[in-house]
Amino acid sequence: MKTVKPANPNYQTSIIDFLSPHTQFPIPNFKLPTQLKETKYIFVTGGVVSSLGKGIISSSLARLLLSRGFSVTVQKFDPYINIDPGTLNPYEHGECYVTSDGHEADLDLGHYERFTNIKTSRANNVTTGRIYRDVIEKERRGDYLGKTVQIVPHITDEIKRSVKRLSEEGDYDFVITEIGGTVGDIESTPYLEAVRQLKWELGKNALFIHLTYVPYIKAAKELKTKPTQHSVKMLQQTGIQPDVLVLRTEKELPPSMCRKVALFCNVSPEAVIQSLDAKSIYEVPLMMHDQKLDEIVLEKTATECDSEPDLKDWNLFLDKLHNAEKVVNIALVGKYVELQDAYKSISESLSHAAAWLDRKLNLVYIHSEKLTESDVASKLGEMDGVIIAPGFGKRGIEGKLVALKWCREHDVPTFGICLGMQCMVIEYARNVLGLKGANSVEMDPGTPYPVIDLMEEQKEISNKGGTMRLGAYDCDLTPGSIPAEAYGKKRVSERHRHRYEFNEKFRKDFEDNGLKCVGVNPETKLVEVVEAPDKRWFVGTQYHPEYQSTVLNPNPLFVSFMKAAIAYSER
Ligand code: GLN
Repeated sequence: MKTVKPANPNYQTSIIDFLSPHTQFPIPNFKLPTQLKETKYIFVTGGVVSSLGKGIISSSLARLLLSRGFSVTVQKFDPYINIDPGTLNPYEHGECYVTSDGHEADLDLGHYERFTNIKTSRANNVTTGRIYRDVIEKERRGDYLGKTVQIVPHITDEIKRSVKRLSEEGDYDFVITEIGGTVGDIESTPYLEAVRQLKWELGKNALFIHLTYVPYIKAAKELKTKPTQHSVKMLQQTGIQPDVLVLRTEKELPPSMCRKVALFCNVSPEAVIQSLDAKSIYEVPLMMHDQKLDEIVLEKTATECDSEPDLKDWNLFLDKLHNAEKVVNIALVGKYVELQDAYKSISESLSHAAAWLDRKLNLVYIHSEKLTESDVASKLGEMDGVIIAPGFGKRGIEGKLVALKWCREHDVPTFGICLGMQCMVIEYARNVLGLKGANSVEMDPGTPYPVIDLMEEQKEISNKGGTMRLGAYDCDLTPGSIPAEAYGKKRVSERHRHRYEFNEKFRKDFEDNGLKCVGVNPETKLVEVVEAPDKRWFVGTQYHPEYQSTVLNPNPLFVSFMKAAIAYSER
C-alpha cells in the first residue's frame, strides 16, 4: 500500500479513566474532519438469509476506518413501507432506536453509534415508505412537470439523493450504506437498482460488500458454498458485481473454499473474508481487521492511508469483557423477553458498564406477565440489580409493579426506564402514599389518581406515528442526587420516546413521602428523573439513557447503577 498521508492528527482516542467518579458525558462525538477530497461510498448487501449481521459488519468497518482517522457515517435503508419503525411492534422488528433529532429508527443505528461514537440522525435511516412519501409529495406539488412518475427514475433518484445527502450535509470521508433485506426480495429491488446506478456515477469511489451465509450440513459434515454462489449470481443479475464477499459461518472455512468462492464469483481471493461466529459482537472489528477488510476497502477505493487503526481503547474494553471473572446478576423485567432484540440498547448498555467495571454480566430476562407476589422472591432474590423496562400498554404492568414493590421493600438497586419509571411512580403512589387505584391514564383513563398523565399538547393528537415526545431534551439535576453525582454535572441531555408524563399535581405528596423529583426539564418543568434517596439506588428516568451508551463511553447512569449492583452483590 502506498505511503502518503499521515493519520488524521485531530484524531485522539478517548481518555477513559474509569477510576474517576464518572465517565464522560455528553458522549464525546468522534466525528473527525474529513481527509479526502471526495467521499467514498460503501454499499453493504446481504444474501441467502437475513440476520447475518450486516449491521455489525457495517459498524465494524466504520470502527476500523474511524480508527484510521477517517470521518465515517453509517446509514440503513429499510425496504418496508412504514414511514419509520416507530409504529412497529418490537416482535416485528426488535427495539426502536431514537436519534437525538427525534427520529424513531432501526435498531442497527444503535449499533452504529455504539461502535463509532458518531451521532446518527434521521438522514441515517430511510424506509421505502419515506421515499414514496417524498416522491408523492413532489408529484402533488407538481415538481415533476407533467411527467409520468415511475420507480425508475423517480424512486431510484430519491434513493440516490438519500445516499448523497449524508455526505453533503455531514461532510464524510466514507458513507457506509447498509441495504436491509436479502438480495432477491421484491422490495429491495429499487434500492439495488439505485446503487447500481450510483456505481456508474461514482466509479472508484463506490464499493460493494456482499454478506452471505455458508451453512454447515451436519449429516454430511460439510460446509456448502452453493447458496453463496447463487446469491452472488442473483446480485450480478441486478447489474452489481460485489468487490468484497463476507461469508458468515459457524465453522472455519478452509482457504481452498474461499479461493473457490472467489473464482466462481469474480472476486479477488483476498477479498473473500469469513465472519465466524464471535464470542461478542465487539470482537468483529478485530476479526475483520485480521483479514484486512479495512485495507482491502482502502485499496479498492484508491484511498491512501499509511496508518494502522488505533484500537487501543477497543482492545482494552475487549480485554475487560473477556477476562472479567466475578459475576453481576441483573434482572430485566419486561414483556418482550422472548425477543431479546426488543431491549437491545439496554442489554448493550449493561454489558458496557459491567465490562468496564470488571464484571461478567449475567442478564436474566424476567417476563413481567408471569411475575406474581408468590414467585417474586424466588425470581429476584439472587439479583444484584433490577431494571424495569420501557414499554407501551397494559400488558405486563402488574408484574412490573410486583417487582418494584419487592425491590423497594428489600432495597435492591433498581432502575426504572421510561414506562419503568412511570411504574415506579404508580407503585409508590399505591403502596406508600396509599392512593388506591393510582395509575397512568394510558392504562386506566378513569383512574382516581392519574399520577402519570397525558401531556396537554398530546391530548389532541390522534395519529400514532412520530407524534410522541421524541429525541434529546435537557434535564437539570438536583445537586447531590444519584444522577447528578453519576453524570458529574448539573445539566444533561438525554433522549426521549413517550407520550405520558409524571403528573406535577402529585409532586409534593411524593416528595414529602420520600420519592424526590431530582431531574426536571429546564423549559417545561416536566419531571424527568425520580429517586428515593433513602434507598441504596432507586432511580427512574423518563428518558432512555440506553440510547446514549457506547462501548468507549458507557452511559454514566448505567455505570452508577452497575457500581451499586456490584456493591450489593457483595452483601
Ligand atoms: N407508554 C409510556 C408512554 O408513552 C412509556 C413509553 C416508553 O416506555 N418508551 O409514555
